Amino acid sequence: MQNDIERVLFSREDLAEKTVELGKILTEEYEGKNPLVIGVLKGATFFMSDLVKEIDTYLEMDFMDVSSYGNEMVSSGEVKIIKDLDTNVAGRDLLIVEDIIDSGRTLAYLVDLFKYRQAKSVKIVTLLDKPEGRAVKMEADYVGYLVPNEFVVGYGLDYAERYRNLPYIGILKPEIYQEK
Ligand code: 5GP
Ligand code: MG
Ligand code: MG
Repeated sequence: MQNDIERVLFSREDLAEKTVELGKILTEEYEGKNPLVIGVLKGATFFMSDLVKEIDTYLEMDFMDVSSYGNEMVSSGEVKIIKDLDTNVAGRDLLIVEDIIDSGRTLAYLVDLFKYRQAKSVKIVTLLDKPEGRAVKMEADYVGYLVPNEFVVGYGLDYAERYRNLPYIGILKPEIYQEK
């Protein structure tokens, strides 16, 4: 599997350092607020589980799965709910945890949905941000790293459901997706 990677962007150590750094900031932000931390399945689960261990306040966790129609590497405009939250968000402080923001459509959809459901506040933390991919206006409140407009995998991020279990984030060799 590791032979399929052309270049490592963020090592296991980089990612560990970054989650500690973000966790400190979020501890200050959410002290005393009992936030609901919402992970976007499946990509954000690795980041989410590492991040919440670094947030030293009471919090609750929930997950949501949404899909945007389209092919493996380019998202389309439409977003649909695959799995909804178990929690009522009305009056709650929400922190959405994402793996990467590309077009911004997934998060734009979720932020609108949670506001419609009368969340008290909605903030976003994303491990990666690909600003060049943006199709709609969307900025995260907390960003781990900016990445170039290339397709990345690992640490939760997949290509055709593979590579999520890589312990680092990297760029696939082009022949891997040209094979299909
Ligand atoms: P958006 O709605 O912002 O275009 O899409 C965000 C979702 O698309 C991410 O949560 C992720 O699942 C997927 N995505 C966007 N860019 C990449 C990428 O470079 N690599 C992988 N593996 N997934 C990506
Ligand atoms: Mg995602
Ligand atoms: Mg994917």
